[in-house]
Amino acid sequence: MVYEKTTETRQAIIDACLRMNAEGINQGTSGNISVRVGEEMLITPSGIPYDQLTPKDIIRVRLESGQVRGLHKPSSEWRFHCDLLQARPDMQAVVHAHPVHCTALSMLRQPLPACHYMIGLFGGSDVPVAGYARYGSAALSEAVVAVMEDRHGCLMANHGATVLGEDLGKALWRLGELEILAQSYLAARAVGEVVLLSDQEMAEAIEAFKDYGPK
Ligand code: 13P
Ligand code: ZN
Repeated sequence: MVYEKTTETRQAIIDACLRMNAEGINQGTSGNISVRVGEEMLITPSGIPYDQLTPKDIIRVRLESGQVRGLHKPSSEWRFHCDLLQARPDMQAVVHAHPVHCTALSMLRQPLPACHYMIGLFGGSDVPVAGYARYGSAALSEAVVAVMEDRHGCLMANHGATVLGEDLGKALWRLGELEILAQSYLAARAVGEVVLLSDQEMAEAIEAFKDYGPK
């Protein structure tokens, strides 16, 4: 695969990074984004400010072997991006960030429960918390992949959040929704006891989501 063939996808990754920070759902060089391209993924480099990135700075990693090609080190979280894309052939993009309210909930090590029908966007009746492991470690990848087997998003203990998308746009959408849900849930909890939706109500929302959005 030659670099020019993927210029558009590389630029889309950079645009998504810039948007994520502009919208306040991530900050600095926290966070990273990958997109599947055939047998490889394209992923952000580690620790380079997004406004300095050009398409040639995006890194290629072979999903099967983890072989890296690029001008810089890949994101320190390349392992869980790689493992998630392999475990979830139905998904084409992974977005990881440190959104304030998701991260606050992750520090409490509490999942986001069925407090709103939009939780259904994440494939189940809650958004789970992956157990703590050092950033960039294989153990963190194991923890994240384990809870994302049947979910399109998770919180990561004392760290942040990770979401999957059928494409990059959907992954970014899920991250924004997750942060708003975490913010709403914490706001409600600060005032009183949150009433949760029943399994039946959540199952109906999940079913309805299969048909959500424009045709
Ligand atoms: P990178 O800059 O290496 O992608 O790391 C950011 C991060 O969020 C680590 O968890
Ligand atoms: Zn992180």
